[in-house]
Amino acid sequence: MQSGSQGFLSADRSKPKKKRVLIVEDNHLDSALFSALLESQGHEVLKAANAADGLKLARENDPDLIIMDVRLPDMSGFEATRTLKNEEATRDIPIIVTSAYGPYADKAEVRECGCDAYMPTPIQITGFVDLIHTFLNRHPARKTG
Ligand code: MN
Repeated sequence: MQSGSQGFLSADRSKPKKKRVLIVEDNHLDSALFSALLESQGHEVLKAANAADGLKLARENDPDLIIMDVRLPDMSGFEATRTLKNEEATRDIPIIVTSAYGPYADKAEVRECGCDAYMPTPIQITGFVDLIHTFLNRHPARKTG
């Protein structure tokens, strides 16, 4: 038995809410991979390839989540994260800091910068998708208008 309106409503409810994610990453392959995975989940993606552009986009676009690389050309991602976590307008945006294994995966620095999670690269795709869902689903839905 078909019920047009009920079928429509349940299909509509099952769609993920579109969220806005800012990727601050100077590695084009990583940036393209994160972006493709987020867009495949229906999210809007903003991209910056350095910290200055990342800070600007974060302040101007109120993203629901930020993925922040540690090694950026102009500033460390830890410092950029601290900056955003110290500003009233941006401190509640969840930030996932990401980095290749190595000296930048320093646990004390990860804790100290105030980020919400640390994700080593190369990423595991299912782990990445689970992690972003954790943050995007607990963050309140965007207000429209
Ligand atoms: Mn980098």
